[in-house]
Parts: sequence; structure tokens; C-alpha cells
Amino acid sequence: MFQPRYLPPPRLEEWDWQDEGKCRGLPANYFFLEGLRGENLRSLEERAKLICRTCPVMQRCREHAIRTPEAYGIWGATTPRERAGHSLAATHAPVQHP
Ligand code: SF4
Repeated sequence: MFQPRYLPPPRLEEWDWQDEGKCRGLPANYFFLEGLRGENLRSLEERAKLICRTCPVMQRCREHAIRTPEAYGIWGATTPRERAGHSLAATHAPVQHP
């Protein structure tokens, strides 16, 4: 079973950036795409990434997901495959601030 290696300490200030996420209040299955493959998966990944790219905490979210590492879900406009390292440089979309 996958075990995260670098979860932040359980202090509120380490996690409060999530309060500002654009995903807050959206269904979790927008970002955790289990059991999908092919074009269906890519289409829904792109929907999630579009939300992330307008998120004020995208960079922090992405850094968290890479550092931890988060093995599942879209975080900071990256997929688990991208975070695994192969094409991460290509996913560094500019952060958009409102
Ligand atoms: S970058 Fe995406 S996953 Fe991360 S907090 Fe923002 S909307 Fe949520």
C-alpha cells in the first residue's frame, strides 16, 4: 500500500491554504478520477486542471502534492502520472491570480 512520505505536520497553518482552493465545495470526484481510462479520463482531468489554473493557491497545492507525494487525484493542475516526474516540467502552467 502506498504511504505518503512527507505529510506536513498537523498544524493548522500547514493546511489552511486549502481553505482558498477553488475546489472547495466541489464534488471530490471532479479531482479524484477513479476507474476511468482513455479519452474519458483525459477529458475529466482537463476539466479539473482548468479549475486549478484559476486557483489562487495552485502553486502551493502543486508543491504539496509533489513533496508529499500525493499518489491520487488532480492537485495543482497535475495528474498523478505527471507528478511521478516524467512530464512535470510541461505542466508548469502559469499561476493566474484573480
Ligand atoms: S490547485 Fe486545484 S486541487 Fe489544488 S486547491 Fe486549487 S483547485 Fe484545489
